[in-house]
Amino acid sequence: MKAVCWHGANDVRVDTVPDPKILNPRDAIVKITSTAICGSDLHLFNGYIPTMEKGDILGHEFMGEVVELGSAVKNVKVGDRVVVPFTIACGNCYFCTSDLWSLCDNSNPNGWLAEKIMGHSPSGLFSYSHIFGGYAGGQAEYARVPFADVGLFKVPDGLTDEQVLFLTDIFPTGYMAAENCNIKPGDIVAVWGCGPVGQFAIRSAFMLGAERVIAIDRIPERLQMASDYGKAEVLNYEEVDAGEVLKEMTGGRGPDAVIDAVGLEAHGNDLMGLETVT
Ligand SMILES: [Zn+2]
Ligand SMILES: [Zn+2]
Repeated sequence: MKAVCWHGANDVRVDTVPDPKILNPRDAIVKITSTAICGSDLHLFNGYIPTMEKGDILGHEFMGEVVELGSAVKNVKVGDRVVVPFTIACGNCYFCTSDLWSLCDNSNPNGWLAEKIMGHSPSGLFSYSHIFGGYAGGQAEYARVPFADVGLFKVPDGLTDEQVLFLTDIFPTGYMAAENCNIKPGDIVAVWGCGPVGQFAIRSAFMLGAERVIAIDRIPERLQMASDYGKAEVLNYEEVDAGEVLKEMTGGRGPDAVIDAVGLEAHGNDLMGLETVT
């Protein structure tokens, strides 16, 4: 099959690689129909994440059709359309049974390495270096999904790929940021950064009951989207003193909650062609 492979910092190629195979009874093979590029892929592309190896297949946001199943997977069938979360979870450990899937104790075979670097290991992740398990990703024609009986989510009929693809990462990431704000009716939420996560954080904040959302960025197109589709009030921090204006807009009190959706490498990376902001 063809797959997008990492070869080093700023060196990503479409290679022909072996098709994935069922390795465990709880695996599935998914034929990819849609996949997305994440801001987190930039950390890999720019060479900031250690333990990537030449030939690693990229992509942790993907969905598709089940083409093969291990013998233990009973809740999906060959032919089902599925969306795949980027965290890999066993479903049975302490963390999984506490709904803390991204902390799964059983899905990262290189947990010892993560513990050495970070103190504790999170779950395994698709295509996120060997610290997180070294799993092949989904920017490919096919992907192997371990613990498929837990991870695969069957897409209800009538929904397009574009309507569900962002469930793999970006939408839940923005939603969780808003959820962590413990929003009460009448709250004003400020969102710094209007990339994809910021856009979903804006909409999630409204979904969870915010009365006003104020979105801050410096890219006009992002602010336009936050305003037109997100219904946020917007501030361009290159044009105004955002801290002062936020106070003015909130009766001197400041917002009730603030979400940082800026992420890493927001400025000056080569891929975006942006100048470094000082
Ligand atoms: Zn992502
Ligand atoms: Zn688990």
